[in-house]
Amino acid sequence: MRTPIVAGNWKMFKTIAEAKQFAEAVKQQDAVAGVEQVVCAPFTALAALAEALKGTDVALGAQNMHFEEQGAFTGEISPLMLKEIGVRYVIIGHSERRQYFNETDESVNKKTLAALKHGLRPIVCVGESLEEREAGKTAEVVRKQTEAALTDVTPDQLADVVIAYEPIWAIGTGKSSTAADANETIAIIRSVIAERFGQQEADKVRIQYGGSVKPENIGGYMAEKDIDGALVGGASLTADSFFALVKGA
Ligand code: PEP
Repeated sequence: MRTPIVAGNWKMFKTIAEAKQFAEAVKQQDAVAGVEQVVCAPFTALAALAEALKGTDVALGAQNMHFEEQGAFTGEISPLMLKEIGVRYVIIGHSERRQYFNETDESVNKKTLAALKHGLRPIVCVGESLEEREAGKTAEVVRKQTEAALTDVTPDQLADVVIAYEPIWAIGTGKSSTAADANETIAIIRSVIAERFGQQEADKVRIQYGGSVKPENIGGYMAEKDIDGALVGGASLTADSFFALVKGA
């Protein structure tokens, strides 16, 4: 049995003060068992959130990191820096980073390996563009991205990897994939993992759906066999909405 995981991706939203307000609101919510809960905050808010979320079930995630431990990389943040402040998860290869910040399959792989080496759990994002979907290339795209991201990951490390299938055309657009379509692509991703690691290991990997998930539609995704939670942008920004998602999972 895979424990579902709901992760909020705050993107470039929330000052430290706003992040602390979110954490205070989390403390007013009833605890929900059986669902792993993560918020991926901007770098500037991580240290304050680590403090503010103490005593809650919400784990801390970052939205990106560099793959080196240290060095002359102006403006970058290393895995060691994230570990030091209590970060547990890190989103790797979000489509916005692939699109606007030159993230490639190769850098996604390097970051995935670096995260695992330092005991961080990568949430690796894969997903096709609208153009690729319309050209019937969805399976090919997610296969290539998944294989590349997992290059040199060991069977022991695999259990710490979370994959987020996020069709690019569904992110922040209000146009979500149908649950059945999302499940079909996620099953393909699982089969790609099984080819490399065996079915038993692949069955342990959590694969989320992401793309315009809301409290009203998360139940449909969770009812599907291969979907193990959600990576959520817009609907994760308030504690009420985030907890509605967690309860829905
Ligand atoms: C995301 O940021 O990964 C995402 C899926 O955004 P949204 O839920 O707003 O579509």
